[in-house]
Amino acid sequence: KQKKVADVKTDFINNITHELKTPLATLSLASKSLKQSEILNSPKAFENTLGILDRQNSRLQKLIDQVMTNSLGSEELLLNKEQIVDTNYFKNCIDDFALSVQSQDLTIQRNIEPKEVILRIDTFLFTTALFNILENAVKYGKESIEIYIDTRLKNNHYEIEISDNGIGISEKDQKAIFEKFYRLASGNIHNVKGLGLGLYYTKQVVDAHKGTIQVKSEMNKGTTFTITIPVN
Ligand code: ADP
Repeated sequence: KQKKVADVKTDFINNITHELKTPLATLSLASKSLKQSEILNSPKAFENTLGILDRQNSRLQKLIDQVMTNSLGSEELLLNKEQIVDTNYFKNCIDDFALSVQSQDLTIQRNIEPKEVILRIDTFLFTTALFNILENAVKYGKESIEIYIDTRLKNNHYEIEISDNGIGISEKDQKAIFEKFYRLASGNIHNVKGLGLGLYYTKQVVDAHKGTIQVKSEMNKGTTFTITIPVN
């Protein structure tokens, strides 16, 4: 058990170091290039470089927030619930996500519950929870990524199913992926970035909504996450 804890710590330190180094290196290059006359004299290049600085800055902020909220004494999440209509909410959520990964070979199919259902959720936290799953579908996907999002009202529960056609998760790992810092690509393999906090956070958010999250997966075929939350 102690060895496992030590391994998890080492992996985490390696991962966070790597995660912080990349945006810092980019920030340093971008700020240096702002001093070059070719950049200074071209409003377009200047604007582009500022864009890079902004994006890397937000990335660092997001990373630090993730570590702060998840690893330092995780207290119960406080929800700030709002009433929303499911159709609008999922449309915006999926559109925003699709926009954030525009460069990939990605198709998203959606099948939202046709009846308008009022949900009471903390939209900020819930969206982050869904984004973590959607981002993983891209990170652990194959060349051509397909994501299916189905939602349905079942008695007094609302079910959200997110499936991908990615690399899949073995049965043994399925039991552990919701644990803090758990990553399959452990050690120094950094082809896919992450801290092993995404699904942990997603489960915390779903739990706080008195919901459940389940995973089903087949190696090399894909993975399905099902979130169920109560509807009042
Ligand atoms: P991170 O992506 O930062 O490593 P997560 O908590 O989001 O952390 O996921 C934990 C692990 O579960 C990942 O490292 C990955 O190995 C595996 N995983 C998560 N989602 C998927 C998926 N859709 N397909 C295959 N593997 C996945």
